Formats: sequence, structure tokens, C-alpha cells
Amino acid sequence: SDTIVILGAGQAGAQLADSLRREGHEGPIVLVGEEADPPYQRPPLSKTFLMDTFDEARLPLRPDAFYTDRKIDLRTGVTALSINRTGKTVALSDGSTLPYDKLVIATGTRVRTPPIPGIDGDRVYPLRTLSDSRAIKSALTGASHVVVIGGGFIGLETASAARTMGKSVTVLEAMDRLMQRAVSAPVSAFFDALHRDKGVDLVYGVRVANLNREGRSVEVELDDGRVFIADMVILGAGVIPNQEIAEAAGITCSNGIDADDYATTSDPDIYAIGDVSFHPNALRGRRLRLESVQNATDQARALAKTLTGTPTPYTAVPWFWSDQYDVKLQMAGLSDGFDTHVERRQPGSDAFSIFYFLDGKLIGADSVNAPADHMAARRILAQAEPALTPEEAADPAFDLKTRM
Ligand code: FAD
Repeated sequence: SDTIVILGAGQAGAQLADSLRREGHEGPIVLVGEEADPPYQRPPLSKTFLMDTFDEARLPLRPDAFYTDRKIDLRTGVTALSINRTGKTVALSDGSTLPYDKLVIATGTRVRTPPIPGIDGDRVYPLRTLSDSRAIKSALTGASHVVVIGGGFIGLETASAARTMGKSVTVLEAMDRLMQRAVSAPVSAFFDALHRDKGVDLVYGVRVANLNREGRSVEVELDDGRVFIADMVILGAGVIPNQEIAEAAGITCSNGIDADDYATTSDPDIYAIGDVSFHPNALRGRRLRLESVQNATDQARALAKTLTGTPTPYTAVPWFWSDQYDVKLQMAGLSDGFDTHVERRQPGSDAFSIFYFLDGKLIGADSVNAPADHMAARRILAQAEPALTPEEAADPAFDLKTRM
């Protein structure tokens, strides 16, 4: 039976190897990962792991024995260098060449480093990997003043962890509101108030012009001339997809590796899943790249079915979460481009959800400490009928279950 080679031993790669065995694939599975650590979960790395309330022993996605028991050939600390599509082989950094029948690219993303003079020096920390998070955790111990570049999920989660640990924290955001790419203005406003209330200094509409080392501190100089002095700087300015290996092999890429509903790339024997895949979204009728555990695992599960003989398109409803202080934000669907939004809130409660509609149809919901709304939204989004109206969503007495 086919040899399946998976490049990238992260959330998507590990899930695919697991699901392939569950679906009955009996041929060789080789899982190649650049990092030294076996596949692990990233979400705690910007949250509880930094605060030392999440033990490192709980990070691995599967126990070590899992890979040996299921005859999954896990090769950690090895980088895939290039793909030879004619010979159907992959060249690895350990000098070996791997033959494949089917190749899956699950190389994820890496931290985007904005072109700021001084950004590559000491005391500036990107956050993507376990080793990044270990370095931040250790630097936080001795730090008093932390500057975070970027008010997206990673930036705000680390800001929340650092503030909870008693550090003084400044978040620098280029846009005029928080998490602008993912949530609507009312949700940004809620998190603005939350972080300010906790004592975080939020600065909007600015770009960092320079990072100067001054003794043991970093002077963070903004384009408007303001200067912040920090013991450490955390980079949360977004990511870029690791698509170069596909590009170099002549596979079509744009914002990620272009893939169809079945994760197939422009080469019929090569697939792309997880953060690196630029794929069609059934709900919104366009291609996008998603950066979430849900997307990585659901794409991997669908592809495992396809590779074991049951062609299965990826149609799952996107969902995502973020923890900041004691607030859980949960997102269902994709809210960008909505034309109507309504708030749903039980009388007297701090918890709430915003439901988003386009042309009268529900397209997404953001829930703040309202997990039941989130679960209901996911189920309603997964089906065509019965439709939920904005009036029903806004009425706290309306039972969402009747639309599930
Ligand atoms: P990854 O998990 O990044 O795995 C890709 C792997 O491929 C990496 O290990 C990389 O080293 C390896 N690789 C790259 N190039 C090569 C190569 N040439 N050869 C070999 N190996 C290679 N999502 C949520 O849904 N909720 C959250 O709360 C959340 N929090 C997060 C917090 C942090 C700090 C981070 C970094 C991410 C968070 N995410 C969260 C996002 C989530 O972790 C990602 O969407 C998910 O890991 C994507 O899985 P992936 O397999 O596509 O990529």
C-alpha cells in the first residue's frame, strides 16, 4: 500500500498520521518535523504555559509510544529541503532522500518579523514554538517592563499572562483596534476595556521605527517619536505560511499553498493542510487560509478519509478561541463582511455574544464567556435550515436550540 510522507510534525501532521491509521491505512507513514520536540499543542504557549499553570508534560499531542505502536515513522529535528516531483522523492536535512506515493505538506507558518532596525538582536522574542515559549517564560521571570508588538491574539494573550504575573505591559498596535482581522469593533472595544482595566497600556495606530539596545534594556522607538523602555519585547505581528518548499517545486501558491476542497494541490499526488493551506471555504464561497487547531485537525481528518479511498471534502464550520485573563472568547464561522450584527445578552449578565449576518443569513458569532451561545452558533452554521433571524438571536428569551 502507498507510502505517505507528511512534511511538518505539528497539529495537522500528527492528526493526519493518527487518522490515517484509524481509517485503515496500512502502508508506511513518515512524519518529518523540523523541531526537536515531538508534536505538541501550541495554544498553551501564549497562555497558561507562560504563567506556569500548565505543566510542560501535558504539551505533547500524543504520548511517545503512540508513534511506535502505530508504526508511524516520526523523524524529529529533520527539515525537508526540497521536493522532486518527477522522481517523487523529498530531500531531507540529514542527507537522506525519502520516496513517496502521496506527499502531504503541513509545514504551518512562522512568525513574521517586521523590517525594523534592531529587531534581530537580543531581548526581542518571537512566539511560535515551544522553544520560543520557554525562552519568553524564562525572560519574563527577570523582567519588569514588557512591550508587546501586535494587538492580535498572540500579543494579547501574552500581554494578559505577563500582566497577571505583575509585569508592566505596553501593547503597540498598528491598527486602530484590537484583533482587527478576526473580530468586529464591539468585541475589540470589550477587550480594550478589559486590558485597560487590568492596567495594560494600549497604544494604537503606531509603528515601531527602531529598537535600540541601551544597557540591559531595549528602547522601543515609535514612528511618532515616542520611546518606551522595555526589559523584553514580544513579537506578535502575525505569521507567514511556510510555502517555499512547494513554490520551489512549482506547486501553485498564493497566500499559502493553493488546495482544493480535498486538500489537493496543483500536483495530484501532493496535498496541503493546516495553517499553510489556502483552500476554498464552503460557507463563504471563497478561498482563505485559517490559523486554528480546528482547521488543522478537521482538514487532516477529511484528508485521511480521502487518502484511504473515501473522497471527503473539507466543509467544517471554522471555530477558534482565545483566553485572556478570566475571559474566554469563542468564535464560530467567519464574521468579516457582515451587514448586520446583533448583541445577545442575558439580563444582568457580563457574558454576551455578537451574532453576524450577511443578506439575512448567519455567518458567524463571537461569544464572550458564553459557551452555550458558541456551541449553538456552530451547530446552526453547520446546517442550511432552519435559519436563525437577527431578531431571534438578539432576544435572550429565544431558545437557540429550536434552530439547531
Ligand atoms: P504547526 O502546528 O505550526 O506545525 C507545522 C510544523 O511544521 C512545525 O513544527 C514546523 O517546524 C514544521 N516545519 C515547517 N517547515 C518544515 C520543513 N521544511 N520540514 C520539516 N518540518 C517543517 N489555535 C487555536 O485554535 N486556538 C488557540 O488558542 C491558539 N493559540 C495559539 C497560540 C500560539 C502561541 C500559537 C503559535 C498558535 C496558536 N493557535 C491557536 C494556532 C494553532 O496552534 C495552529 O493553527 C496550528 O498549530 C496549525 O497546525 P499546523 O500543523 O498547520 O502547523
